[in-house]
Amino acid sequence: MNFRIYEPNLVKNTICLSMRRDDKKMFYYTININMLDNLDLLSDDIKLKLLIEKADEKIKSLVNEYATKFNNKKEILDFILLNKLEINKYCGDNKKFYNWLLYNNIKLKTITVDNITKENIFLDLIDIDNKELLKCKYNTCKNKRIFETIRSEKIDDCYTTFCSKECLYKWRSDNMSGDKNAVHRTPLETLKKVREKQSEQMKEKIRNGSFTPCITNTWTHYESKIVLNGVTKHFRSSWESFFYLVNPHLDYEKIRIPYKKGKNTHIYIVDFHDGENKKLYEIKPFKMKECGLNKIKEKCALEWCLLNGYEYIQIDEKWFKENFNKYEHLLKGQPNEETLIKKLKRIL
Ligand SMILES: [Zn+2]
Repeated sequence: MNFRIYEPNLVKNTICLSMRRDDKKMFYYTININMLDNLDLLSDDIKLKLLIEKADEKIKSLVNEYATKFNNKKEILDFILLNKLEINKYCGDNKKFYNWLLYNNIKLKTITVDNITKENIFLDLIDIDNKELLKCKYNTCKNKRIFETIRSEKIDDCYTTFCSKECLYKWRSDNMSGDKNAVHRTPLETLKKVREKQSEQMKEKIRNGSFTPCITNTWTHYESKIVLNGVTKHFRSSWESFFYLVNPHLDYEKIRIPYKKGKNTHIYIVDFHDGENKKLYEIKPFKMKECGLNKIKEKCALEWCLLNGYEYIQIDEKWFKENFNKYEHLLKGQPNEETLIKKLKRIL
């Protein structure tokens, strides 16, 4: 028999109890704690204080009498995993979270009302002696990995592989250009798992409407056009036009990523999208990269790419310097040929 106590509802003067019978059936009870004594003659704040004390006492005795007894930390972990949805309700409210542990007879040496977090509970439960295990898996990086949530007793299930996206990208670019040795294999698999899970979450966001992958384009300001195989395409700048001429397989402004700035949600329209090779391209002069809004956009694009397994590539002057002469011939016969060449030559 498994008996659990939910937090007391002092407004309704009740304590909720649930009981899981051996046949797995759940039963719920509500006990009115106000029925214990007659508190009518007291003022409201004293009444409340007494009620809280009485509730605490009642809970303590109920805990002693009925609550699940844990024989070891493994059992506590199993109990926490079983109740992880309920725990999420208490995150951010230390007192409630701590009481939840108390009501359920969970005693952990290192946990206090001040330091209670899911991560600290996890660390207490798994008793790791080697703190190295918590370190970022990128080569020499000494930073700590980021705790996500309690999923099992395994560190790799509960922490990110790297300390930051920077380390992830460094690792990824090393791994793409370098030798694919065994050292790289483990994090790659973990990453794949994470990505699959996150892509599911993204799909859910699209389903529930909190993320819209593609909205109708209502912009009207276009600076130049390109005609390819009889089809006219409009672009906002000469840079974009030329980049498209060189890469005509790309989708223009297909991916839209919502992001928060202050209280408002904005949509970041990514310049080019390569669905086949999973790449996003943003065309931007080098000096504009550091401006605040572009930093925010870059951050949200990087997050999107991480979630969807894409690479985010910023195209600046450097690309045009390297490619203009090579592809200048593609501009021949374009409706704005002269203007385009004039504008592009300014950045060379
Ligand atoms: Zn790192």
